Amino acid sequence: MRAAFAVILAAALLPACGGSAPARRDASQNVLLITIDTLRADAIGASGNRSVSTPWIDRLAAGGVRFTAAHASTVVTLPSHANILSGVYPFRHGVRENAGFRFPAHVDTLATILKARGYRTAAFVSAFPLDARFGLTRGFDVYDDRFPKGEANVAFRVPERRGADTVAAALKWIADVPAANRWFVWLHLYEPHFPYTPPEPYASRYRDAPYLGEVSATDAALGPLLQPIVDGQSTRPTLVVLTGDHGESLGEHREMTHGLFAYEGTLHVPLVIYQPRLFRSLVVVEPVRHVDILPTVLDAIGAPLPTALDGRSLLALAAGGAAAPAATYFESLSASINRGWAPLYGVSRGSLKYIDLPIPELYDLAVDATESHDLAPSRPGDVRELQRLLAALRAEDRPAVPARENADTREQLRSLGYLAGTAAAKTHYTEADDPKRLIEIDREIDDVVSRYQRGDLRGAIALGERVVQQRPDMPLSLVHLAFLYNEAGDHVRAVAAIRRALDLNPAAQDVAALAGAYLTEAGLPDEAITRLAPYVREAQPDADVLIAYGVALASVRRTREALDIFARARALDPGNGLPLVDAATVYLMTGDRERASAAFADALSVDPTLARAHNGLGVIAAERKDYQAALDHWQRAAALDPRDYQTLFNLGDLLIRLGRPSEARRYWERYLATAPPALEASDRERVRKWLTSNRP
Ligand SMILES: [Zn+2]
Repeated sequence: MRAAFAVILAAALLPACGGSAPARRDASQNVLLITIDTLRADAIGASGNRSVSTPWIDRLAAGGVRFTAAHASTVVTLPSHANILSGVYPFRHGVRENAGFRFPAHVDTLATILKARGYRTAAFVSAFPLDARFGLTRGFDVYDDRFPKGEANVAFRVPERRGADTVAAALKWIADVPAANRWFVWLHLYEPHFPYTPPEPYASRYRDAPYLGEVSATDAALGPLLQPIVDGQSTRPTLVVLTGDHGESLGEHREMTHGLFAYEGTLHVPLVIYQPRLFRSLVVVEPVRHVDILPTVLDAIGAPLPTALDGRSLLALAAGGAAAPAATYFESLSASINRGWAPLYGVSRGSLKYIDLPIPELYDLAVDATESHDLAPSRPGDVRELQRLLAALRAEDRPAVPARENADTREQLRSLGYLAGTAAAKTHYTEADDPKRLIEIDREIDDVVSRYQRGDLRGAIALGERVVQQRPDMPLSLVHLAFLYNEAGDHVRAVAAIRRALDLNPAAQDVAALAGAYLTEAGLPDEAITRLAPYVREAQPDADVLIAYGVALASVRRTREALDIFARARALDPGNGLPLVDAATVYLMTGDRERASAAFADALSVDPTLARAHNGLGVIAAERKDYQAALDHWQRAAALDPRDYQTLFNLGDLLIRLGRPSEARRYWERYLATAPPALEASDRERVRKWLTSNRP
């Protein structure tokens, strides 16, 4: 009797849907959310792509519900995951860009809700944009972001972990969940993100399409996790949701990667929902969104939906039913925040897609999938209607000010004069600020990075200077230039560029951290301390800001304070070994070799890839005259970071003293190629003389 009553009630809650099976729910299932970074909707076999092999994703899609018109609402990693995990649009959770924003403590996510319902919860993420510091950790029993963090504040490099390693960590955790417990796992894989460097055999197989090679490698990494699920070997059913956080332009509309425009190449994503006991194999063509994932998962486990969501449950659609059409909001604000270009907002409804920029665009995707025919000039009525819809959606939107810049900080920055040179956030943009007009500069910004990555430092600097001449108000390009000058040992120019970048974007803690580091390297630690102090006093300072502040304090011999700061950085981000390396370096400076040794070893147990920790241990071993141990540590350091010129110098120096000149030569030649001329003038001279007078 009670069972029958429950069925009637469930059916009554469904929208009218002719001929479809009623949606089923299962409160006993596990939940597995898989997000694959930078995965285009058309980059998987299930979407009909014959050039790529993705057997695991295809098996999920074939046995589950595949949504062919799923869309992201943002085109960069952190905001997109915030949308997926929260079920609300960016203007509600406030995360509008990767760096500079933190997910707020008051917004619920799949993790907080499922944990409150008794689930064991864990996240396994593969790249820095989802680092624990950005606030998505709430609700997760375990937030595993173990990628090498030593490189975190080096421009142009995003620390990442191999998909197979992330999957292995997830499997290990799942194996330890008691059978009586349900679990929720969020797994994030990063391979398809630029640069495209698939491992073998994918590198050879996809020589002409390395992006697809990365996609295929990602699919293979998922095998060990998906195999027991699709083969029905798990004791408890698992609801699997698989999507991409955004796509990749691959040259469409002259955009190479993602994060600038919001055309279908980056907005359209795959979405598959799999749980054979709940869903039959189905293809759904109705438009759906990332924000629908949270309500769908909650609905599928029979949990009540939070009231203030932008998304809605897709259960009826997944059961073959109909649903009232919903509009999709989207935005792309990175270039507005980092470069001062016009912000991009948009909305699509049915097949019409409107992009709100100084030069507005309107497309009918039903007849123009490549968005080549702009209908805005010829259909002003549709434009006006979609503009009204967009305005209604954005009624609660506030300016995209990075959340962490609280009023207190702003006041402190102003009192120090740092906001004096800051253009107030622009409110009016002209056609000259439209990213479509600036796409050539975007290509040049990419080219600065690739020139540097190819080893052409001079060329990268020349192009970076040209970019800044064209648009002098772009913090991003000033940061790039500062980094390049610093690499070239030109500390005066590095400091000038990073000061301007920070003045233009004083809320950016990553820029502040770099400014602090470069000022100290330039011999201006007092200015570093003054500039960083307001950021350090914030309620939730960034770990990199604390590290840069501590290094500045240490270099003016305020060692006690420096150690306190490193301890704070460590508490804030226990997965980051750098504060331990820096603390160890302070101990070494003060002659406390015992504490230094212990701290370097601790750092390596947190992150075995920290070259500087091996270098430090090598220094201590050499001082004890344990030369074999010193060589071991330094060789490991040089293997981990081939550009660490201090280690290269140490290796050459010791090998010469040990009477092994031919081995020494190799390291000192590399030292000459990497050591900054200004900073290392006297050692470079010594090395050059030795290399000339000891020719083999
Ligand atoms: Zn991403």
